[in-house]
Amino acid sequence: MASSTEEQLITITENYETMCWGCGLRLLLPSFAPSYKCGWCGAITSPNKLKCDRNYFRWRRLRDLCFVSVLFVFMLFVICGGLWAVWPVVFSISISCGVFHSIIAIILSIATISFFSLAAFQCAGKPPTIIWGSYPAVGKGDLENYTFCQYCSKPKPPRAHHCRSCRMCVMDMDHHCPFIGNCVGAANHRHFVCFLTSAVISTVYVSIMSAHAGLHIWPPLTYRSLEHFNGFSSDMAWRAVREVIFALLRSAVFLSARGLVLVYLFISSVSVEIGLSVLLWQQLCYIYEGKTYLTHLSSQTSDEDGKRDCQNFARFFGFPHFISRFLPNVRDTQKRHKK
Ligand SMILES: [Zn+2]
Ligand SMILES: [Zn+2]
Ligand SMILES: [Zn+2]
Repeated sequence: MASSTEEQLITITENYETMCWGCGLRLLLPSFAPSYKCGWCGAITSPNKLKCDRNYFRWRRLRDLCFVSVLFVFMLFVICGGLWAVWPVVFSISISCGVFHSIIAIILSIATISFFSLAAFQCAGKPPTIIWGSYPAVGKGDLENYTFCQYCSKPKPPRAHHCRSCRMCVMDMDHHCPFIGNCVGAANHRHFVCFLTSAVISTVYVSIMSAHAGLHIWPPLTYRSLEHFNGFSSDMAWRAVREVIFALLRSAVFLSARGLVLVYLFISSVSVEIGLSVLLWQQLCYIYEGKTYLTHLSSQTSDEDGKRDCQNFARFFGFPHFISRFLPNVRDTQKRHKK
């Protein structure tokens, strides 16, 4: 037992020589150091070996392609199906009403498809190229808090994360979204949030219009035994509700193809709308906190507070200074209360 503890003591105190990946300088480190920071260039080295992100890469791209195709076909169906099913009803009310709704539909369609394309096909945020590897070229503090990406074999800036689906490091990565087949990062985060906003407004509009048009062309309802409902009790109310549902189902048999498209449009737009609203709300909360999804996950343990501010929206969307002045500054009001 004594000899084993001696051996342990010897191995713990033993130093070893290694090289900084950032500037190439030799460093003498204690053997228990899991990771170390170079005193010259500031780069952090961990003893991890090189990793490969080629495994399942094709499957991930295929999954993304399927999701993007399904979303694109759905958007086209909502636009074309909506035009075909809703427009006759809208124009039957009045020509000015039809023109008004045509303009709204064109604006929403162009905005949603444009923001989708910008979020999906723009590079999510490539880290800047930086000189690394040799001492005279790398100056003091040039690679401050940089780590080495074990997948790309390149320096990784402090706010970057490696995405195995995109096979690259992404600046300010929020998450990899299979529906746009791209990462959401520094370069396309704004477009992604604009796409979500536009999609939520569009689906709300589609659900209202399809419900309105559906009620217009719905076949007449035939009630069977409503004359027997005299007085009010919970049993009577339940039977009345059941009779209304059955009447709707009976009349739905005589629904035209246009009516069926409207029913599908209503159900699908309401369900997509609920999902997207939750996602948009989550995104707006993170922006308000000045975080991304990944920094939110990493800060859950370290409990960083005091950064919640409406000015974060101004910074995120790049509002001009005269607009951001009108947004309430939470930090200022908190300070004033403390005083
Ligand atoms: Zn170094
Ligand atoms: Zn990487
Ligand atoms: Zn990605």
